[in-house]
Amino acid sequence: MSGWQDYLDQHQSRFEAELLEFVRIPSVSAMPGHMQDVKRAADWVADRLRGAGMEHVAVLPTTGHPAVYGDWLHAGPDKPTVLIYGHFDVQPADPFELWDSPPFQPEIRQGCVFGRGASDDKGGMFIPILSVEALLQAGGQLPVNVKFIFEGQEEIGSPDMPPFIAAQCERLACDMIFSADGLQWSADEAQLIMGLKGLVGVEVIVEGPAADQHSGLHGGGINNPLMALSQVLASMKDAQSGRITIDGFYDDVVDLTVEDKEQIARVPFDEAAYCARLGVPEAFGEEGYTIRERIWGRPTLELNGLTGGYQGDGSKTVLPARASAKITCRLVANQKPERITELIRAHVERHLPPGVTARIEHLAGDADPFLVPRGHNATQAAGEVLREVYGEAPYVTRVGGSIPIMTLFLRELGVHGVMFSFSVGDENLHAPNEFFRLANFRRGQTAYCRLLETLGG
Ligand SMILES: [Zn+2]
Repeated sequence: MSGWQDYLDQHQSRFEAELLEFVRIPSVSAMPGHMQDVKRAADWVADRLRGAGMEHVAVLPTTGHPAVYGDWLHAGPDKPTVLIYGHFDVQPADPFELWDSPPFQPEIRQGCVFGRGASDDKGGMFIPILSVEALLQAGGQLPVNVKFIFEGQEEIGSPDMPPFIAAQCERLACDMIFSADGLQWSADEAQLIMGLKGLVGVEVIVEGPAADQHSGLHGGGINNPLMALSQVLASMKDAQSGRITIDGFYDDVVDLTVEDKEQIARVPFDEAAYCARLGVPEAFGEEGYTIRERIWGRPTLELNGLTGGYQGDGSKTVLPARASAKITCRLVANQKPERITELIRAHVERHLPPGVTARIEHLAGDADPFLVPRGHNATQAAGEVLREVYGEAPYVTRVGGSIPIMTLFLRELGVHGVMFSFSVGDENLHAPNEFFRLANFRRGQTAYCRLLETLGG
């Protein structure tokens, strides 16, 4: 077969040894004491990119932990330029006593590498480096132009990445983006993640009298901010249908198509087990949609916290001066956090009972939703390759949460990223005894080679 397969097979034990060496660097981005280790991991990655045949390799400073860049741009202008992303920082490893082997002294047991970062994301991000090395060694060139960008602060929320990516737009310019950080559906089933939800949060504050009052002296004379707030909140969602009743809330929502619904229905889901696992008597959500459709493809509004009045033991006959509620909405394309904030503000104004005032405070953490357009070429290529290497078409899924780097790339580089990673959610990511399956380490190398070949036509 192809020369790169032989190269990968012949060098697999070296690659495994290198992965162990990489995991041995305790690049914990959250802990100031490990700052030099994150830098050391960056240098390791830079060296390894050079070893694989990448050019223009550089450790790039940010205001925090550095990033690493490298490229190979000789496929010609008629070939696409592919940007591959991953991260070399890891989560803290404590509690250390719960690990069967020390987190930074990785071991191979039962076909898996055990160590902090083995799966998230050192094993994952190392895979495409090995694939380009194999392609270059076997064929002397790559089928497409390739750029790599690896960050060292993903596990602390990438605080310096927005200005960094904005400043590096030219260097990172590309036609397609693949993230080597992400998850497959299970050890032997692939998935293609088509959508991520956005987020917006507000606090609604309702105020009445200047200070708490005696409910016997003033109850019946003035309105109660806690009751008024409850009435406003209750008016935001229909108790039976689960529909959000804020005017205009659904206006910008891209509806699930028949095909979307078919793809979601293909993903196995056991409603009874789901309810049992969460300890609820039954599921609840927006009428007319399945649970998966609601979680993946429909916007939500959740009350996260409610404060006001007396909350101690026994009773206190108080008429509170103030009450507040924190609300977050998970958004879907093409909803915008700013517009949803305005709609909530207008709803509160319209539904506020007399005798109290209300204001809305916008909470930090806005994220735009992300939806891969139908027919997106990079996603289709990824789907074909996953079908080939897993022997079965991938599940087409979405995620109820947000992945900020994907929306950042879309905003700054104008490209929808595709998650193309070979980790699995059961590999104790962020927990003791993190591991990575070596079978998927090897499978991922084939997949990245085939992906680049497919993209090169
Ligand atoms: Zn990760």
